Amino acid sequence: MAQLSFLPYLRKRLPQMLEALRELTVLESPSLEKKPADRCCELLAEKWLRHGTIAQIIRQQHRGDHLRVIWKPSEGRVKSQLLILGHYDTVYPTGTLAKMPFRISGDKAYGPGTFDMKAGIVQALFALEAIRELQAPVQKRLIFLWTSDEEIGSESSRKIIEEEARRSDAVFVLEPSLGPRGLLKTSRKGVGEAELIVHGRASHAGLAPEKGINAIHELATQIARLEKWNDLRRGVTINADIISGGSRTNVIADRAAARLDLRAWRRADMRTLEKRLHALKPVHRGAKLEIHGGFDRPPLERKHSVALFARAKSIARELGFPLGEAAAGGGSDGNFTAALGVPTLDGLGAVGDGAHAIHEHVLINAMPQRSALLARLLAD
Ligand SMILES: [Zn+2]
Repeated sequence: MAQLSFLPYLRKRLPQMLEALRELTVLESPSLEKKPADRCCELLAEKWLRHGTIAQIIRQQHRGDHLRVIWKPSEGRVKSQLLILGHYDTVYPTGTLAKMPFRISGDKAYGPGTFDMKAGIVQALFALEAIRELQAPVQKRLIFLWTSDEEIGSESSRKIIEEEARRSDAVFVLEPSLGPRGLLKTSRKGVGEAELIVHGRASHAGLAPEKGINAIHELATQIARLEKWNDLRRGVTINADIISGGSRTNVIADRAAARLDLRAWRRADMRTLEKRLHALKPVHRGAKLEIHGGFDRPPLERKHSVALFARAKSIARELGFPLGEAAAGGGSDGNFTAALGVPTLDGLGAVGDGAHAIHEHVLINAMPQRSALLARLLAD
């Protein structure tokens, strides 16, 4: 059976997987730097072209280009498709490699973007290679979509992701798994961002304090108010994470602003939080509030993952490793596809730790396993 030999095949290919991971990691691909990101996208296109696919670079004006890869099984007619989704951008600016080089130490491969989520892309690449080499029967067209702006909100890729998802029977997201046991992410919070701007009135803090309206005092009062909306038990959080305002200590501040992070498990809670936010009224007389933003990623609800997870779990058992699931507070592009009602399984990428941190790494020995798991999900 071709299916059962995926894992031994991929274990033999581990050196090549690591080499591909190294090549991808040393081409830094920050979301905010188009030129280097495009170079990484080109390398990806070259790699996928070697696997009998059609690789289409979807040009972008401001962000890195996106890559859509199409692979059709040669026999029979395919009526539907599966979407394999991920992003090649990272949160690290160009030059990060100098202090955080790609390196292998023991069972770990370190480097910026390895875990989130270049190793996931490598695992998908070799899953397809295994499917082709072992001539595993695949019933559906496979679309691999690698985008350039997930880490900054997927503004330029969201439409493309949603279009492909609508045509797909299922979506497999190669974002990193959770924790040392590599749990899949069967639910994710809805995520949003808002800005609260306060307009006050400047005045000399010593000569005419009565004429001033202190925007910072107003903002502080509002933040104290919205802090109380946090409900950890329900999973509703609102956090002021960036604040600004004021000019000099002897000038009453005429402007202050806070950027807010919003999260919730449930759609209803999302709407409630947004309503409360937009209904805020100033406390200090004369102060004005300006509020922008809200939720932009809907939650990934477990009901859209549960059937796919059950299949993944039983495949993993056959492959010889346990597979668990978890809920994640962070969002991904899987939130968009699940919100369309398309079955979505997220966290199928690398096992490791340290996403967005100096110790970011993947567990090398898990790479063939996770790659075999994906191959089975696509070929079954
Ligand atoms: Zn990611």
